Amino acid sequence: MSALIDTIIASLPQSNNTASSGWTYFNAPCCYQTGHRPDTKKSGKVIQDSNGIKYYCSNCGYEASWQTGCSLSRNIKIIMKWLNISEDHINKIEFDILKQAGKITTKKFKDQFPTFETKALLEGAIKVSDITDVCKYSLAVLEFMEQRKLTLDDTDYYWSPHPAHRDKLIIPYFYENRIVGYITRFVQWSEKEQLDKSKYLRDVEPGYVFNLDAQDDTKEFVIVCEGEIDALHVGGCAIGGGRFIFKQQVMQLARLNKPIIYVPDRDREGRKMILKAMELGWQVSMPNWSKKCRDIGDAVVVTDRLETFSSIIESAEQCPTKINLKAKTWFHQKLQ
Ligand SMILES: [Zn+2]
Repeated sequence: MSALIDTIIASLPQSNNTASSGWTYFNAPCCYQTGHRPDTKKSGKVIQDSNGIKYYCSNCGYEASWQTGCSLSRNIKIIMKWLNISEDHINKIEFDILKQAGKITTKKFKDQFPTFETKALLEGAIKVSDITDVCKYSLAVLEFMEQRKLTLDDTDYYWSPHPAHRDKLIIPYFYENRIVGYITRFVQWSEKEQLDKSKYLRDVEPGYVFNLDAQDDTKEFVIVCEGEIDALHVGGCAIGGGRFIFKQQVMQLARLNKPIIYVPDRDREGRKMILKAMELGWQVSMPNWSKKCRDIGDAVVVTDRLETFSSIIESAEQCPTKINLKAKTWFHQKLQ
């Protein structure tokens, strides 16, 4: 029997019945999620055999299926989530299926610490410190750096005169002193342009922790935040993107063997990440910054690096009750 099928069957709503045709009927969890009326007529059904499993909802039309030997489709993963199967569990099942299919080698599984291949930066990229051609694009990058209080000592910032890239500041991703990827920050970005252009573009293997190389013996603790620029301001690490943290990132940070202070962004994702940080036993810091500061970068612009750094250390908190209390005022709503 397959772990995937077993898990789905075990996670069906308790009130279900199996017809002689082999289909098992239950109130479908999909309808509400797809914007339809919640199902009360047992419109959801699954059928399984030795070759796989099928899901179908006659109310909203959602369907998903899986066949032995195949990878998991997006639909099957979504319906598993809606059946309240945890993301970790889904990932584990998916991993085992890929492994069985020979798509992942066991060796890669054993040394889970990623190695990160060396990568080239964007075409034409030169260090910002080496810019001699001052045009409106390179000037915009320099102005952005000045506004955001970035200095040439922070890291090797890059810029490219290539027409496809010239409106971006490029921050290389280092790993063991090699460049293994990068993030670009579109510098003329404004709210209006948000719809057709992405402010940040990242290119790196999953599981990367930004600025890990800088966490040397001189550091007593590690400040972990979301954004790369934020991390550079306070000499911390960034885990990127919000919402979740990769297992490899947790492992790499744990290997540093230092207390970790997590600084969330002041948004919905940040609020979710606090719960994750508490689960990991990290400290969480929500400093008394002015209300318009959404992240470390904003706080540095309003005050300066030293003051922002001190405020983070002073506000670091380990006790879950205190973190919850603080979050209420910091985000203007409860954690969950
Ligand atoms: Zn449905």
